[in-house]
Amino acid sequence: MSGSRVLVLNSGSSSVKYQLLDMRDGGRLAVGLVERIGESGSRLKHSPADGESREWNGSVPDHDAALKAMAAELDRDGLGLGSPELAAIGHRVVHGGLRFTEPTVVDDAVLAEIERLIPVAPLHNPANLTGIRTAQALRPDLPQVAVFDTAFHTTMPESAARYAIDVETADAHRVRRYGFHGTSHAYVSRETARLLGRAPEDVNVIVLHLGNGASASAVRGGRCVDTSMGLTPLEGLVMGTRSGDTDPAVIFHLMRVGGMSADEIDTLLNKRSGLIGLCGDNDMREIRRRVDAGDERAGLAFDIYIHRLKKYIGAYYAVLGRVDAVAFTAGVGENSAPVREAAVAGLEGLGLAVDGGLNAVRGDGARLISPADARVAVAVVPTDEEMEIAAQTYALVNDSGNQNLT
Ligand code: AMP
Repeated sequence: MSGSRVLVLNSGSSSVKYQLLDMRDGGRLAVGLVERIGESGSRLKHSPADGESREWNGSVPDHDAALKAMAAELDRDGLGLGSPELAAIGHRVVHGGLRFTEPTVVDDAVLAEIERLIPVAPLHNPANLTGIRTAQALRPDLPQVAVFDTAFHTTMPESAARYAIDVETADAHRVRRYGFHGTSHAYVSRETARLLGRAPEDVNVIVLHLGNGASASAVRGGRCVDTSMGLTPLEGLVMGTRSGDTDPAVIFHLMRVGGMSADEIDTLLNKRSGLIGLCGDNDMREIRRRVDAGDERAGLAFDIYIHRLKKYIGAYYAVLGRVDAVAFTAGVGENSAPVREAAVAGLEGLGLAVDGGLNAVRGDGARLISPADARVAVAVVPTDEEMEIAAQTYALVNDSGNQNLT
């Protein structure tokens, strides 16, 4: 195989994010986004590495049109999809169930299995499938690789992956804990080991992926042993718009007493809860501004967010037994010094502390923010899901290319 470029596609229901990477040096040749697909006022933003960003608003009726618009922009930069330099297209696929434990070259059977998983990922898998099919139509000869958000978590033991509900009922409906953000947890746990100068196999890490969606994971020697998201991304931490953990009986109560339907409660817990439900804002910058101005609702929302985060740090400390590092990542984790400080405050007994000066410094790369003599390293490790998807895709197509030769 001669090409060294990988196009990474993250297809949502109304957006496609893309990056073209060169795997010889990890360089980003172009980055872009098509938004509001199938809605009025669609928008494309395209940023080549060697030029000015371009933006246009227009009509993008479907994913086919979105990928063609992306392809036209790449063409303008001499980076078109027809280039022999392009080795493969890597797709983010949210739900791979139990079957997909590794990145997988897409064929008809793989497409059918991703489709079969739609009932457990009704929002994400259909859009991911559309992205793959559209890309296949554009370059039928090229390997398309699916990289699953759930794959990293398939190493969880049954004791962590099962809910304590009737086994036959659970199995009949594939109800279990799958976990999400796996590409990020895999990348960040490995980068944390690198930051410590140790092999991933020797390091136990608690990864806190705090973005608009948020999840924690316990990673022992490079393998995930527990994570906070479950059957769907609703379980676990307090998020931008999702509640995270609640008593499941809240749902029956809202149905019976509140007269709400299953769909209404779904929307409530996924879209109108978490930080936005608690205080009307889901952007941590705005919440901190309000907290600093003495806003009590924002203060309570922040406290609930931190309380839940602390509970998970404590729980995963207990799961791992020995913790070498706690790593903060994603929009909030990488940028919010007050969240990092509050999350580990009072955990000195566990060997956890942040150095105020180091925590306040803004920086781009992975960095330690714990005092030099700390028992447990606390780190800020920027996530890079696109790079991880590209790396896994490239490794897979190189591997299968080599196998074909032997
Ligand atoms: P993500 O989902 O990883 O893109 O994270 C998005 C979230 O990161 C936003 O909703 C904000 O709450 C948060 N965020 C982004 N930048 C900052 C910042 N400078 N300070 C605090 N929070 C931030």
